[in-house]
Amino acid sequence: MQATQKQTDFIRKLLADREGQEVEAIRTLLNAERSSKGFISKAMASAAIKGLLQIAPKAKPSAALNIADGYYVRQEGADSVVYVVVTSKNDRQYGKRLVYTQGGQARWEYARGAVYGLTDLQPLTREEASRLGHLHGICVICARQLTDPESVKNGIGPVCVKKLPDGTSKVIRGGKATTVSVPRPKKPTTKKVVPSPRSPVKPDPNPPRRKGDMRGL
Ligand SMILES: [Zn+2]
Repeated sequence: MQATQKQTDFIRKLLADREGQEVEAIRTLLNAERSSKGFISKAMASAAIKGLLQIAPKAKPSAALNIADGYYVRQEGADSVVYVVVTSKNDRQYGKRLVYTQGGQARWEYARGAVYGLTDLQPLTREEASRLGHLHGICVICARQLTDPESVKNGIGPVCVKKLPDGTSKVIRGGKATTVSVPRPKKPTTKKVVPSPRSPVKPDPNPPRRKGDMRGL
């Protein structure tokens, strides 16, 4: 049985609002059925709708980010990931993420919607930029390898360092440099070493078994 107009309209809307591999897989299935049968079946349409509804719609590009343009850092697992938030010429904010690639390289990757909904972005401090520069040998602002001895020592290039805050940050906004005030974090997050309460300083190699502990059984 052929899918109803209502179903196909709904599928079209769901497809437009979503993206990613799973969405493309569903689109491929729908197209395959359409080209073999000449139409999309009701069963296929239902399955597609069910599948698409499980995928989160992409963030609306018109949604305003609640943060100023500038460089940020976010703790992702063990890594500090650097983000930059910029405003395009048509006044839309978007984010890019610094990705380290093989062979000691890095590049800024446009991450669609990457910064939407992120509430844990911390302004990138000079200190953190230097730390990451020393760690990877790459300037976190221009993503180039640090080669100049002075830059290697500082962990950041001489021009790039000016883009980082000392209370203010010069960032490119709509093609023009403006000064955007970026709040300073109270403390550099990198220095914070919080010992896990579950790992004592000297772990007991034979900890006493707790009730329900199945080890060695
Ligand atoms: Zn640089």
